[in-house]
Amino acid sequence: MSKKLLLEHIDVPGINTYEVYRQKGGYASVEKALKSMTPETIVEEVKKSGLRGRGGAGFPAGMKWSFLAKPDGVPRHLLCNADESEPGTFKDRYLMEKIPHLLIEGMIVSSFALGANVSYIYIRGEYMWVSFILERAIAEAKANGFLGKNILGSGYDLELYVQVGGGAYICGEETALIESLEGKRGNPRMKPPFPAVKGLWQRPTVVNNVETIAAVVWILNNSGEDYAKIGIGKSTGTKLISASGNIKRQGVYEIELGLPVDEFLNSDEYCGGMANGKRLKAVVPGGSSVPILPAELFYKTANGDARLMSYESLADGGFATGSMLGSGGFVVYDEDACIVRNTWNFTRFYNHESCGQCSPCREGTGWMLKVLNKLEHGQGSMEDIDLLWDIQRRIEGNTICPLGDAAAWPVAAAIRHFREEFEWHVKNPKLCMERNYGLLESTKKFELVS
Ligand code: SF4
Repeated sequence: MSKKLLLEHIDVPGINTYEVYRQKGGYASVEKALKSMTPETIVEEVKKSGLRGRGGAGFPAGMKWSFLAKPDGVPRHLLCNADESEPGTFKDRYLMEKIPHLLIEGMIVSSFALGANVSYIYIRGEYMWVSFILERAIAEAKANGFLGKNILGSGYDLELYVQVGGGAYICGEETALIESLEGKRGNPRMKPPFPAVKGLWQRPTVVNNVETIAAVVWILNNSGEDYAKIGIGKSTGTKLISASGNIKRQGVYEIELGLPVDEFLNSDEYCGGMANGKRLKAVVPGGSSVPILPAELFYKTANGDARLMSYESLADGGFATGSMLGSGGFVVYDEDACIVRNTWNFTRFYNHESCGQCSPCREGTGWMLKVLNKLEHGQGSMEDIDLLWDIQRRIEGNTICPLGDAAAWPVAAAIRHFREEFEWHVKNPKLCMERNYGLLESTKKFELVS
């Protein structure tokens, strides 16, 4: 049975309204925090919980909070990163759409813990309708005394605003998000200084993902220690996973970290197994930027251990034989999927979304796309595969922000694990062309020709 800390009430009719949310115990953490806790004790609870950022990097949230210096009169801000744009990831949208007050509640207690009196939810432009849902929830919370001046008579003031972005993937990077929120083009900043020192309008700032902030509510209603007992090792708590691809049951699932990947993929409680009786070829377990895992490395690590849905287990073996939990965008590919086409598709995305500030990313993604275009359309050579490998290697680690790595890793993993498919494209130019014009049945796509 799955453990639900965030989605427990997700199917309750009307849970998106203040009344029903309150009936289900909503806003109890705000009452507890403002009446019986201090900002310091809240930060301590979050540290004890072991909660890690759910946006992708997995950095400990309590530690990130503790990077803020003690309040010195300079305003500080909490920014919620709702710019969910990673292909394959749609769990924050689900949470905000279905149970918006959980995020608002998390924003209030987290802002109190950080000493912020003005906080923002930055949401991607494509989620415009979700921004309206959030606006309504904020208005309801304010009308009931949970936002605005002197919340619950505690003397604490908080204004919470929703800012809609322009639809750029790069604004999910925290410093690009800050630039965009300041009204500028969303270009990532050089770090240091980090946002905790100089963030929004050069003030101390914390940027957290939607799911991270929502998880703080359960931690305060219970305790950091209780949260740390859920999950496995340093992967504490639960995680929202957006599952898509060639599976029977696509959707958003809340799992306890440490769940075996086999159970997640094949049990009827989650993905329900492969669609149409096909065999598993590969899985991208954490959104488009993480390395793809072939079936043989998906179920078991290189050491033969059963692979688990956790930060550590999915990364076991490094990028040679592992991947990452990332943002929880779990994309499944069956035996008919074309890895070259998928890699080409991802690279088109990253090339389009590169902000262009640094050459390895701007030029490198463009060159990778050119080479992949050739290979995908049956015009590539064996040397092109080596060239592609060389280009991605020169991008990784050489850029201002992680988008460069995000573009390079999928290419590296695809060549590492599926080189024979790239070679098949070189050896079978005519079949590639025919397939691109839809003339070949899918079942004949990848019979390797010696
Ligand atoms: Fe811009 Fe790409 Fe450089 Fe990031 S890595 S700053 S997206 S050019």
